[in-house]
Amino acid sequence: MPGRIVDASKFDFEAAERAARELLRAIGADIDSPGLLDTPRRVAASFAELVTPAELGATVFPNDGSYDELVVVRDIPFHTLCMHHLLPFHGHAHVGYLPGESIVGISKLARVVEAFSRDLQVQERLTVQIADWLERELAPRGVGVVLSAEHMCMTIRGVRKPGARTVTSAVRGMLRRDARTREEFFSLVERSR
Ligand code: ZN
Repeated sequence: MPGRIVDASKFDFEAAERAARELLRAIGADIDSPGLLDTPRRVAASFAELVTPAELGATVFPNDGSYDELVVVRDIPFHTLCMHHLLPFHGHAHVGYLPGESIVGISKLARVVEAFSRDLQVQERLTVQIADWLERELAPRGVGVVLSAEHMCMTIRGVRKPGARTVTSAVRGMLRRDARTREEFFSLVERSR
């Protein structure tokens, strides 16, 4: 997949385990305490899961029915790891497109969010990657992506503002150029709140 930060094929489980043990030592933890014995392995396994994406083959179909209205899947839950703090951020994605010659299985709209979430991320980049993928695979007449997320790095530490949500969006094609299409997309997304 283009633009990934983590190359999951290079994941070195034993090195991750050693590093987790070193981190525990470095923060002053008694690494021989019974509760921590298996922690390095669990940390390595967690990271392996969080950065390994599932395959994302495109399942694209001809738009035989000439459907020419927006397709929007909203409230797709996602979680990922912030690349600045290695803490999770999580929330919902709303993904839509205006079909051209092709349509895609709607579950694929959720899968693309999942695929790009399994990486070290910043929310802006995740938003753009989802929009780029749809543009590339579907050549639609328009694309809209909205992400709304809560970042643990600003809720449990730092500025400590639980409940604060960060909203990002990417609009392409007709959704960028045509005010009415854009408004329709955002009102469909809005109704989910
Ligand atoms: Zn962060």
